[in-house]
Parts: sequence; C-alpha cells; structure tokens
Amino acid sequence: MRQTTDAPVIIIGAGLAGLRAAEGARRAGYTGALIMIGDEEHPPYDRPPLSKDFITAATPPDVLLRDPEELKNELNIELRLGQAAEQLDVPGKRVRVGQAWLNYSSIILATGYRSRTFSTNREEQSLYPVRTVTDGIRLRERLASGARHVAILGAGFIGSELASSARSKGLSVTIISTVKKPLAGALGDQVADALVQLHRSNGVDVRLGCSIAEVSESSIQLSDGAMVPADVVAYGIGGEPATEWLAGSGLELDGFGVVCDEFLRAAPCVYAAGDIASWPSKLFDQQLRSPHWTAASEQGVSAGHNAVSDAKEPFDTVPYYWSDLYGKRLQFVGVATGDEMMVVRDELPDGGFLALARSGDRISAACGINMRRQVGVARRHIRQQSPWSIALEDLGVDQNLPVLSRV
Ligand SMILES: Cc1cc2nc3c(=O)[nH]c(=O)nc-3n(C[C@H](O)[C@H](O)[C@H](O)COP(=O)(O)OP(=O)(O)OC[C@H]3O[C@@H](n4cnc5c(N)ncnc54)[C@H](O)[C@@H]3O)c2cc1C
Repeated sequence: MRQTTDAPVIIIGAGLAGLRAAEGARRAGYTGALIMIGDEEHPPYDRPPLSKDFITAATPPDVLLRDPEELKNELNIELRLGQAAEQLDVPGKRVRVGQAWLNYSSIILATGYRSRTFSTNREEQSLYPVRTVTDGIRLRERLASGARHVAILGAGFIGSELASSARSKGLSVTIISTVKKPLAGALGDQVADALVQLHRSNGVDVRLGCSIAEVSESSIQLSDGAMVPADVVAYGIGGEPATEWLAGSGLELDGFGVVCDEFLRAAPCVYAAGDIASWPSKLFDQQLRSPHWTAASEQGVSAGHNAVSDAKEPFDTVPYYWSDLYGKRLQFVGVATGDEMMVVRDELPDGGFLALARSGDRISAACGINMRRQVGVARRHIRQQSPWSIALEDLGVDQNLPVLSRV
C-alpha cells in the first residue's frame, strides 16, 4: 500500500473513469494525497444524458456524478479544473501541468476521447457536436429557440439518440450517414437493419452512403446533390483518444489509446482507465477495449485499486453498453467477432428484438431491444463461457432456428 508520506497519487482526467479511480483508491484503503487534474471547467459529470433527455427535456437532468462537496469531504480529492496535463515523464515519475512538474507515486490516465470535428466548404450556420456538457447546453438552447428541422450527421449511437430526442419534441429529423449500414461493425447486419427500420418507423428521413457538402441558412446540400431542410445541424461522428500529450512518453499507444497489461498498468506506476484503456482479456482471448460507460466505471475502480495496492487484481469484463431510442432500450453485451449471428426474436417496431452471436461452441455476444432480462442472462453465460446449447436453453431459444449470417 502506498504510504501517506509518498508523493501523491495523481489522476489525469476528471470524468467517469477518473472519479471511479479515486473511489477505488480510497476503497482500497489509501489515505494519502489524491490530486485530480481535469481540463474541463466542470467536476466529473455523466455524458449519456447529453444525447438523450438533456437536450430536449423541459428541465434537464442533473448530470454531476458526485456533489463537489463530497469529492472534497468524503474522497478528500484535490480537484484542479481547467488545467491540462501536457507531458509525462515515466522514469522520473512526474507529470507536467502547465509549467509545473508534479511528482507522483502512481498516476492514473483517464482522459477519454474528444469529438472528431466536422466542417464543410460553406457554412452559413453553426454546427453542433455532442460530447461535453458545454456542447449539450449549446444544442439544448438552439433547439429551444424555435428550431424546426434538424439534420444529424452520423448514425452511430450518439447520432441515433439525437434523432430520437429531436423526434420526441416533434421536430423533423434527417439522419445522414456516410456508411450504408451504420453500426453493422458493432452490432451485425441484422441489428443494423433493424435500427434503420426503427428510425424510419419513427418518421426520420434516413440518408445512407452520403455526407453533408454545404450548409446554408435553412438547408443543407448532401454529397449526392440532394437538398434537405435544416435549421440545426448536429453531428456525432466518433472521436479520437485524448492521448496526444503522451507521445514520446514511452507508453504503448495504438491509435485507439493506451495499451495496458491485465492490471491496467501501462508502465511502472502508470495505470489507465476508461475509453482510452485496452487490456488483454482472458475471456475473449484478445487485447480488448470497451469505450462505454460500464467499462469506464469498472476500469476506474480497478485502476484506482491497483495504483495504490500491493495486492493487485487482474481486470477483465464482458463489455456492455446501452442506448435509448424512441422509448426503447437497446443493449449489447460481449464482443461482436463471432462466427455466426442468430436472430431469435424479431418483432420490431412494436415489440422487441434479440440477436445472439456464437463463437465456436460459445455464446460471444447478444444484442437486444427491450430484452433486458435476456441480455442479462446472456451476459452471465458469456462471462461463464457457457456452451452455446446451454445458453440457448436458459434463454428459452429454439436450438433449430436458422442461423442468419456471419457477424
Ligand atoms: C453524448 C454521449 C452519450 C453517451 N451515451 C452512452 C450510453 O448511452 N451508454 C454507454 O454505455 N456509454 C455512453 N457514452 C460513453 C460514456 O459516456 C463514456 O464511455 C465515458 O464517459 C468514458 O469515461 P472516461 O472517464 O474514460 O472519459 P470522459 O468521460 O471523456 O472523461 C475524460 C476527461 O478527461 C479530460 N481530459 C482529456 N485530456 C486531458 C488532459 N490532457 N488533462 C486533463 N484532462 C484531460 C476530458 O476533457 C474529460 O473531461 C456516451 C458518451 C457520450 C459523449
């Protein structure tokens, strides 16, 4: 266990994983100094509401993850906001923040992703990314100021949720995706098709395989020449890891983030957690990343524990994420690299949807819409590495259903 006389434990990134890391370190019994550096002006807050009810609800939900007083009094965190870490000296065990070098006994990197930015040759109105609470407030205010036609670039989870939120306010929505089957890589073809169907059945104009070429005051021109009415243009086109400041540190960076060992350790006394961290998963026999809420939370706790504790615990999990669309809950568990995909229930738009993926003799992933219990059961079987037939039996699925496709 780190001693209170040691240099502080430093957490870089005041987001979900950073907060959970502080909680994990305290839960492991660490009582020494804990400094959290965050480049945003806000204490740790929750991002999922930002593409959901935050932008349209009459009263936006409170997104703070913990009361700032609790951070100080219960977790005894020295919170330094509006400051960015700019350089890491691994052998010297110090990090540069502005002009100051801070020594650490352990450091946890939890800097997350940044929105990829989008622009066109001609823009006569502002464009709206959605990643930070500042983005959310900006879009919320714009939607409330008499917007009627919303165009959304990107049909991934964030773009899809923006479409769903805007429709809940009765706004006309066009969703534009450069790919022909959005989310097929993450969810498989059948689920991707079901999602497009879900958008359309909720009155969204879905344009696939094109982008936005120009933005005028009240319309946009698509790359295929079509004109679409739009007085608000928002986008959710993925992000980039906030790891540029780690270049030259000697850490292994793979373009998606920081490569860690099974203890979420990237180098001696250096740990990573959240969207930027990958780990060697025993369950899935591959270096895995899961840039979603649940893994960020779990990894934060684990990295915080391991950063201060002599009894280090290996990290592994079954990736999980959810998305809320048109009053339905989509959930995905596992890793979509199976051999076969089987759609076992397909009752959209009014009912549910469940697809299971198989890898060898094991269930490797499940995706459900309004199938919470089944997704929970599937997650347990994926974690237990149950044989396919046993998982299917427990899920009450007919073993003789035809397999629809490779994942
Ligand atoms: C709009 C939106 C909706 C989402 N909805 C869902 C959902 O429905 N379900 C789901 O499973 N997941 C969802 N997610 C994903 C989930 O929120 C993320 O996986 C989670 O926030 C990752 O936590 P993190 O701590 O790794 O990163 P972040 O929450 O991004 O926090 C990282 C923090 O570090 C700061 N930082 C970056 N660089 C530096 C630096 N050099 N120095 C100091 N600070 C720095 C960043 O500004 C940020 O404040 C959503 C994400 C977004 C953006």
